[in-house]
Amino acid sequence: MLKEKDKIFTNIYGFKENNISGAIKRGDWNNTKKIISLGHETIIEKIKSSGLRGRGGAGFSTGLKWSFMPKIVTDRPHYLVVNADESEPGTCKDRDIIRNEPHKLLEGCLIAGFAMQAHSCYIYIRGEFANEAKILQRAIDEAYDKNLLGNNAAKTGWKFNIYLHRGAGAYICGEETALLESLEGKKGQPRLKPPFPAGVGLYGCPTTVNNVESIAVVPTILRRGENWFNSLGKQNNTGTKLFCISGHVNNPCNVEEVMGISLRELIDKHAGGVKGGWNNLKAVIPGGSSTPLLPKAICDNIEMDFDSLKAVGTGLGTAGVIVMDQTTDIVESITRLSHFYKHESCGQCTPCREGTGWMWRMMKKISSGQAKIKDIDHLLELTKQVEGHTICALGDAAAWPIQGLFKHFRKDIEIKLSKNKIAAE
Ligand code: SF4
Repeated sequence: MLKEKDKIFTNIYGFKENNISGAIKRGDWNNTKKIISLGHETIIEKIKSSGLRGRGGAGFSTGLKWSFMPKIVTDRPHYLVVNADESEPGTCKDRDIIRNEPHKLLEGCLIAGFAMQAHSCYIYIRGEFANEAKILQRAIDEAYDKNLLGNNAAKTGWKFNIYLHRGAGAYICGEETALLESLEGKKGQPRLKPPFPAGVGLYGCPTTVNNVESIAVVPTILRRGENWFNSLGKQNNTGTKLFCISGHVNNPCNVEEVMGISLRELIDKHAGGVKGGWNNLKAVIPGGSSTPLLPKAICDNIEMDFDSLKAVGTGLGTAGVIVMDQTTDIVESITRLSHFYKHESCGQCTPCREGTGWMWRMMKKISSGQAKIKDIDHLLELTKQVEGHTICALGDAAAWPIQGLFKHFRKDIEIKLSKNKIAAE
């Protein structure tokens, strides 16, 4: 369990002031100049050796991602873009960082921007976060007033500006290249990769897109040292993580914990346990709606980190933990998610545009008991035809929950279907 002294987000519940004087009292913006004086390369190396892996879902090394940016700035400026389009169902951690710890994010932007030789940063915030956008803009204004941003940001001699950009509510704009398209004023549709944003990103210039949490933890890592961060969690899964626990628990919450904490400890200690007790648990979606669910038998012993969850066929994703107890109609729940992905498909590529609707219709048929048992195999074949055959990961995100459902609950569903006349035909 994470000790109080090792918490990065000391105001995540908003019990203290979120303004700049409160943030400075908690240590934010404390001698930022000293961190910047480490130099571009050293900062990147330190973040690499801290082991920080991106907190937006993919879990790629943050320092390594930064190192992909060109070492020399040519006539194309470098950009840092922060992805605050948090839209994955079950996930609400970046929202609380912005609400209660906005200055951690802004200081992180300056340091990360400097490390990658960017003078401009765009924070792309989802349209529905109207209050959060106001809070963040107020924090940006406060930072300019104190000369922590601007021509000589935090007296470092580095010019650094932050622009807040509000999205219009499309889930797909959380995909980094769709986000860049949207920032450029176009339809938010993902780009084919390569080229990757570090080569050709915003306005055709070198760009790195990072998640809010990944950037907000950077100042603390550099202040306390990469070895401190590395000492928390597990090998290759270091540091702390904000987990969002929702669903059938007694106290749904966001909580910062060490990477690799057991799922059971996370739910019992922080969320007041599963409603009706641990034995009333049916399944857990461990990392936001796109990650395959886990049945109770696996939940009993699983640890919450990238590698442990990958080993059981799912993922840490955004760490949006959705708990479902025995009262849950699990087929109906996954059908609802299928509808979500169908609705959010940008329609650019055929397997996703057609496949997400098809998967949803088949899930509805199964959910209503109107399907035949052999339809399950048709549906699974369909998910395989979508997975890996699309421009962006939304196709995979639509396929995985269905695959997870049948991997663990196929027998139950077959028994249910075999009871109706149509299936028996
Ligand atoms: Fe659009 Fe779906 Fe293709 Fe992604 S996978 S580009 S969301 S159609």
